[in-house]
Amino acid sequence: MSAFGACRMLQAVAGRGWRPRSSKPAPSAHASRPGAGFSFELTDEQKEFQATARKFAVEEVIPVAAQYDKTGEYPLPLIKRAWELGLMNSHIPESCGGLGLGTFESCLITEELAYGCTGVQTAIEGNSLGEMPVIIAGNEQQQKKYLGRMIEEPLMCAYCVTEPGAGSDVAGIKTKAEKKGDEYVINGQKMWITNGGKANWYFLLARTDPDPKAPTGKAFTGFIVEANSPGIQVGRKEMNMGQRCSDTRGIVFEDVRVPKENVLLGEGAGFKIAMGAFDKTRPPVAAGAVGLAKRALDEATKYALERKTFGKPIVEHQAVSFMLAEMAMKVELARMAYQRAAWEVDAGRRNTYYASIAKAFAGDVANQVATDAVQIFGGNGFNTEYPVEKLMRDAKIYQIYEGTAQIQRMIIAREHIGKYKA
Ligand SMILES: Cc1cc2nc3c(=O)[nH]c(=O)nc-3n(C[C@H](O)[C@H](O)[C@H](O)COP(=O)(O)OP(=O)(O)OC[C@H]3O[C@@H](n4cnc5c(N)ncnc54)[C@H](O)[C@@H]3O)c2cc1C
Repeated sequence: MSAFGACRMLQAVAGRGWRPRSSKPAPSAHASRPGAGFSFELTDEQKEFQATARKFAVEEVIPVAAQYDKTGEYPLPLIKRAWELGLMNSHIPESCGGLGLGTFESCLITEELAYGCTGVQTAIEGNSLGEMPVIIAGNEQQQKKYLGRMIEEPLMCAYCVTEPGAGSDVAGIKTKAEKKGDEYVINGQKMWITNGGKANWYFLLARTDPDPKAPTGKAFTGFIVEANSPGIQVGRKEMNMGQRCSDTRGIVFEDVRVPKENVLLGEGAGFKIAMGAFDKTRPPVAAGAVGLAKRALDEATKYALERKTFGKPIVEHQAVSFMLAEMAMKVELARMAYQRAAWEVDAGRRNTYYASIAKAFAGDVANQVATDAVQIFGGNGFNTEYPVEKLMRDAKIYQIYEGTAQIQRMIIAREHIGKYKA
């Protein structure tokens, strides 16, 4: 199905006419009305995206999520359906056939997808992460070629930065790219790559300046690499604690030749591009964590209304109702955090501080709320027949990928303290 087809599908599901936005950073509902101050009201269009994603999550994802968790099978039918509905790649610019949505709208969709299953949501989010360097730094040709094909077909891509020896310390990566004529030759190993075995192409960060003293801002280069290039060996699918249907793998690059046309921005610009992508992808990761937390809250509340002990529903025990109140507080505040981070970047402002606050806070909230949901389910919560143990396992990764909980705090501290030193 073409991009146009995907848009039309979203239009049909949403039940009204819809026109893709321009490729400019999409103004959020609030940013487009200067002087309006804060508004918690979504636009009609935003409500439609949300409703479409919610319907898909509830009717199509939730019924099969436990089975995908059990088998670890890649949820290809769900991914194809999300693509048809226009719920994937929503930030690809209109100039490449995409919807050109803002981060705020992407986050609304992501929260709903995550409510259904964060394994599925992470596979979809893996595309956003792989595409973002090309969106923020790709030239017209690169964007048309690599983003355009994601709109023509339900393809996956991946973001290849982490290595077996370096995750948080990105500047410690060892994969190297050597220029030979009009090509670069890449050698190295990547690890924990979401969609690693399913991707059509990769964003890859490699060291191009062998001088260990070269400044980080100049030593690394970002490449687009075709996944079928000779010399690429994709490792086995890793069996993780949670989000088991998401495809995570190590990848070896051995004398992989990449044309110089596939360099993003220029030699030496890679570190900035790889890190800059996070300003736009961390708010959706936080939104995913909120979706999971909201699901845990809903499941726990429904259970607490039904389960009786000492002659009354457990929700009538104050200890349980207060636990639900705490969970609700956390969900609401984490949602506000990701919306603020998304709003800032859509308004064209540097949002690093807010993106890290949202990612760190929502990641912690997902873990706390899912753990409390298991507690409210009692013994049943510990069992795979009930939905909350999966939520607790799935939640953990939100404190690890796209910058750990500790790294987010380092960024927040740096940004915060920097304001006082300025
Ligand atoms: C399921 C999954 C999917 C992933 N998907 C991708 C992907 O698509 N692409 C990709 O490139 N990567 C991906 N990653 C990698 C992920 O981003 C890294 O695992 C993460 O950044 C942490 O790096 P690390 O595992 O090397 O841990 P380390 O960096 O070794 O950290 C170990 C511990 O030390 C702490 N720590 C490290 N340095 C400091 C410090 N200076 N101060 C305080 N504490 C510190 C960390 O917070 C952590 O608790 C994925 C990982 C997983 C598990």
